[in-house]
Amino acid sequence: MFDKERIQELSLEFENGKPQDTISWAFKTFNKDMAFACSFGMEDICIIDMLLKESPDARIFYLDTSLFFKETYELIRKLEDRYKTKFECVKSDCPLEKQAQQYGDELWKITPDLCCNIRKVAPLKKKLSTLQAWMTGIRREQTPTRANAKTVEWDEKFNLVKVNPIVKWACHDVLGYLLEYDIPYNPLHDKGYPSIGCQPCTYPVNPGEDSRAGRWRGFNKNECGLHK
Ligand code: SF4
Repeated sequence: MFDKERIQELSLEFENGKPQDTISWAFKTFNKDMAFACSFGMEDICIIDMLLKESPDARIFYLDTSLFFKETYELIRKLEDRYKTKFECVKSDCPLEKQAQQYGDELWKITPDLCCNIRKVAPLKKKLSTLQAWMTGIRREQTPTRANAKTVEWDEKFNLVKVNPIVKWACHDVLGYLLEYDIPYNPLHDKGYPSIGCQPCTYPVNPGEDSRAGRWRGFNKNECGLHK
């Protein structure tokens, strides 16, 4: 049903459509076998809104590293109240204390790839192994590694269909959507943080820097390993 040719046809079909069309198709096709992996960035909040308008039963989960900013945890509660739902919290099998015992305190300062692997990639892999498709809020203009992402694609890394409904949106499309529907977002965005991850690895960006320049500052790294 989803060989590479069919996936390519679908990505072309949705390339010029609205994100809502992609979301509607994905939900009708996969239903409970699909889930949206949400990081609560501005993009992801637009997807939450569109997806829950498509169906209040849509599955939404987040990878809680136990290291989010307090503003992010507050935003999660705020969105749960607004949409009268509970997002599924997915955690690493390795609690922070165990990670510290095994690898030392603040592993993120020494080997952030290993830390991301333990706290994000491994739990995501486990979660995705139970699904046929996952949805993300990535956009092409965010990083060179995302520049070739398709609306619908086969995820070679995790072995399932990946749906990226707003992949071609520009930053102003995201802001326009949030303003149009008066949706709350993380207040850190207004304090110089265009991209927000774990508190120890996220810094504000300087004028002219790319939107993910504040992530893992000082390391040659701009992805957690969730997206190729
Ligand atoms: S973003 Fe930083 S703290 Fe969070 S999992 Fe990755 S390395 Fe660890």
